[in-house]
Amino acid sequence: MSDLSAVHLTSQRDLQPKVGISACLVGEPVRYDGGDKYHQLINEELSPWLDLQVICPEVEAGLGTPRPPIKLVKDQGKTRALGEENSRVDVTEALTATAQKLSTTQCQDLCAYIVKSRSPSCGSGSTPRHDISDLSTESGDGLFVEALKTTLPNIVIVEESSLNDVQKCKEFLEQCYLLSER
Ligand code: SF4
Repeated sequence: MSDLSAVHLTSQRDLQPKVGISACLVGEPVRYDGGDKYHQLINEELSPWLDLQVICPEVEAGLGTPRPPIKLVKDQGKTRALGEENSRVDVTEALTATAQKLSTTQCQDLCAYIVKSRSPSCGSGSTPRHDISDLSTESGDGLFVEALKTTLPNIVIVEESSLNDVQKCKEFLEQCYLLSER
């Protein structure tokens, strides 16, 4: 991809925009089930031109792979990360502390972040939040993205689902290069 109008792409890693990415999207087997969510367009169209910083906040929190699936539950105004099959599994503190640590250290010099939609950690606006009785659900951010948005209000966050054609990838690349020139 070399025909962007506003920017000059470089393959030189230390000159490329630094962009965070959910580790499962580059094919790392870090999901709760031991699998990944390799995203072909991101890896073929964006990866050569960006200095991607690969992070799985749940692995960083020490949850291990594979691990029991979790979901976000709203209870008395607080959001908790509980086991999907066993609600006595509560990993809220581990995920919240790690999200806070990552967003104030490794993520400080990122201009953008590509996240996995619907994840209890990485979703941006698409993550289901259940009420305690499981009768209703609303959509929101995962715990890691919530911390990112609070700590780094200017970072551009996109879900992988919005990068599903070459034109969208081009627009995102252009945005990253312009942001990194500031
Ligand atoms: S926490 Fe994020 S990076 Fe890790 S597997 Fe889930 S969606 Fe992927």
